[in-house]
Amino acid sequence: MNVAVRASQTATTNGVVAWRYWRIDGARLQSPLTGDPLPATGQLIAACHRPHLPPHPACQCGVSLYRDPADLRRVLDMLDPQQFVATVGHAETPVIPDPVGQLYRLGATSTVWPAAHRTRTYAVTMIYTETPVTLDYALPVTESWDEFVESAT
Ligand SMILES: [Zn+2]
Repeated sequence: MNVAVRASQTATTNGVVAWRYWRIDGARLQSPLTGDPLPATGQLIAACHRPHLPPHPACQCGVSLYRDPADLRRVLDMLDPQQFVATVGHAETPVIPDPVGQLYRLGATSTVWPAAHRTRTYAVTMIYTETPVTLDYALPVTESWDEFVESAT
């Protein structure tokens, strides 16, 4: 790893509030689509094999997120609360619209979920669960999916 790459992986405090959901993997969380684990720092940093920093409008790289908590709430209604949590956190700017609709297969039906955005770095500040879980993060946990919608208003 050269110095330039290492410097690019340093977190920034410039950002916006954003929402995500995660699959529970034991005591850790993982990105539901890519399977990337959320590190112990609570901060997920995207990388790309192409010569640019994520996110890039012509590429699929970056961390997906929702800018509107109501969009995430709609998604949560389709998920098993035993398997997923929601988070609020800081998304590093720039945050760009995700041009690819997220298509999910639930049983025999496919559903296009609300439009997402993408960022390079997402730092979780609060985890929201619907069921009691023991997670290996030094992050506050609220046991209600509905709390994050109220916290955004
Ligand atoms: Zn890329």
